[in-house]
Amino acid sequence: MFSSDRMVKARIVELILMKKTDEAIKALSQHYSVDVPHLKVGMPKKHGKKAACYISKTKTIHVRSREKLEDPFVILHEFYHHLRTHDRKHRGTEKHANRFAEEFTEAFQTLHRYSFNVYYKHENSTI
Ligand SMILES: [Zn+2]
Repeated sequence: MFSSDRMVKARIVELILMKKTDEAIKALSQHYSVDVPHLKVGMPKKHGKKAACYISKTKTIHVRSREKLEDPFVILHEFYHHLRTHDRKHRGTEKHANRFAEEFTEAFQTLHRYSFNVYYKHENSTI
């Protein structure tokens, strides 16, 4: 059956899909014992072409549009950067950030295999 860790991951994806991204970010921060990052719709100028980014200086996850707030892969990818940022330097590679996000979406998909059919877009090069 499901370990509690997978249940937590599936629940966080569910919250993001239900547009409760604030709640999901709080739950994630609590789970990993880190400060809650800020969430903002609108990109900083030099990151304008990306779908989302994480600015360590302000501890803010920026997303291009409200739609992106409801994309678990994007939110979890950026949260990984928050989790791995120390002394304002990014640690952890993009590959690790994608893998982190995938663990959550896979837990959700496995749990809901028979009741939901969710499609995730991977835009690895843009986040
Ligand atoms: Zn990234």
